[in-house]
Amino acid sequence: MTLTVEPATGFTTGLYIDGAWSKAEESFDDTNPATGELLVKVASASVSDVDRAVVAARRALEGAWAQTPGAARGALLNRLADLVERDAAELARLEALDVGKPVGQPGMLDIPNAVATFRHFAGWADKIQGTTIPTAGYLGMAPTHSYTVREPVGVIGAIVPWNTPLMIAAWKLGPALAAGNTIVVKPPEDAPLSILHLGALIDEAGFPAGVVNIVPGLGEIAGAALVAHAGVDKISFTGSPEVGRQIQKSAADTFKRVTLELGGKTPQIVCEDADVEAAINGIAMGLFFNQGEVCAAGTRILVHRSHYDTVVEALAQAADAQVLGDPFDESTTMGALINAEQLQRVLGYIEKGTAEGARLVAGGTSPDIPGFFVRPTIFADVDNASTIAQEEIFGPVGAVIPFDTVEEAIEIANATEYGLAATIWTQNVSLAHTLASKVRAGAVWVNGWAAIDPALPWGGMKSSGIGRELGWAGIVANTEEKVVTIVL
Ligand code: NAD
Repeated sequence: MTLTVEPATGFTTGLYIDGAWSKAEESFDDTNPATGELLVKVASASVSDVDRAVVAARRALEGAWAQTPGAARGALLNRLADLVERDAAELARLEALDVGKPVGQPGMLDIPNAVATFRHFAGWADKIQGTTIPTAGYLGMAPTHSYTVREPVGVIGAIVPWNTPLMIAAWKLGPALAAGNTIVVKPPEDAPLSILHLGALIDEAGFPAGVVNIVPGLGEIAGAALVAHAGVDKISFTGSPEVGRQIQKSAADTFKRVTLELGGKTPQIVCEDADVEAAINGIAMGLFFNQGEVCAAGTRILVHRSHYDTVVEALAQAADAQVLGDPFDESTTMGALINAEQLQRVLGYIEKGTAEGARLVAGGTSPDIPGFFVRPTIFADVDNASTIAQEEIFGPVGAVIPFDTVEEAIEIANATEYGLAATIWTQNVSLAHTLASKVRAGAVWVNGWAAIDPALPWGGMKSSGIGRELGWAGIVANTEEKVVTIVL
């Protein structure tokens, strides 16, 4: 079957397995978050569909892909980057429709980052090298010659969340393909469309059949089948800590490698000497971008007491100034939350914030319009031990906390189970380095928020995950290091 776009809907909604599109026996509803209405029905992969995809990936791994040298893999990734760039407007439309985010935002982050990721890893594909290592020889009897090679891990199962699906799929595809792996991607059931369109571009780019397979479906069926499959060598997962924990347990049965990119509770630390205006702008972006549905959202705002009132007031104003509505309306600055359950979850946290004694200074309600919208919300005088300061809300809710000394700021910043990212606002270079060394987080940004780049390793400490993706760390995570020793 060569059909990729359903004529009735204009969307690509099937399974992409072994270089061909097929239908599934079941389907799931993909809803438009900004209206609450059904967008389209999407093929829901069964356990046997996932098996078919894994078998195809294994065949390609040992066949056509093994015969494709690094330079050729790089050329394919570069071609894919060009096609994503060509279809940027359509991909932005799909992300806005499916995730509910303002249509301008994918053009700022998701799409350029996906393109840059494919290009970055295209560059690595023919530069993955081993080393020669001198040793004392073989049991004192003979000299040896030892060297290492980096081989692909094998078949990778990639499981993607709904907040920035295209970009996170690129983070998994880029390093896996550059390193010579084949891959089965399980898109999120809440927002599968951009990854399905990417599947059509992968086909057009000319990757051999079976190198990339895409199996939209439910987490507990298609996702779990991928994790349990004995033919999958590694799971690369981005999503919630709860599912991450289940995946690590299940992966233990087959000793699969796992990379887990999980949640966060990023502190934004505004020091006494900070450029307060720059900090306020950066904090507002870190709270409200993508409706706050960002793993690195800067939701704990730690402010030196000398700036506390100024920052609280400015953030309340910034929250009130957000324009909620149709993601395709140019005046909209904040879109809808992903689904009704997420809206109820966020409203539940807001209720808890008030009940636990925090001071609500902006937002706190859901506007009376169709779709799953919540007003951006700021709480002041938050106790860092309270629920809204400890649990990941995954919505536009900020908790502002005062501090008096740098030591106190470090203590509060680290008093969380998460360790994904942190931002420090200071003009003192010495203080910046001191704080950067003391805060337990996979990424520390000074005077900016979310300075992510495909060249930089990405991943969390503590409950924020295990392993790193992107940059050279992404290649390491997608290869096995083999040592060869020749007794001379
Ligand atoms: P989720 O864990 O509910 O789902 C993520 C993916 O896992 C989806 O594709 C889902 O279908 C699948 N899944 C669900 N149950 C499964 C199971 N039993 N076995 C296998 N797969 C299963 O997360 P979400 O709600 O889609 O995304 C939000 C979460 O993702 C937040 O916690 C957020 O912080 C995190 N996230 C982390 C990063 C990062 O880079 N660290 C980036 C984005 C999102």
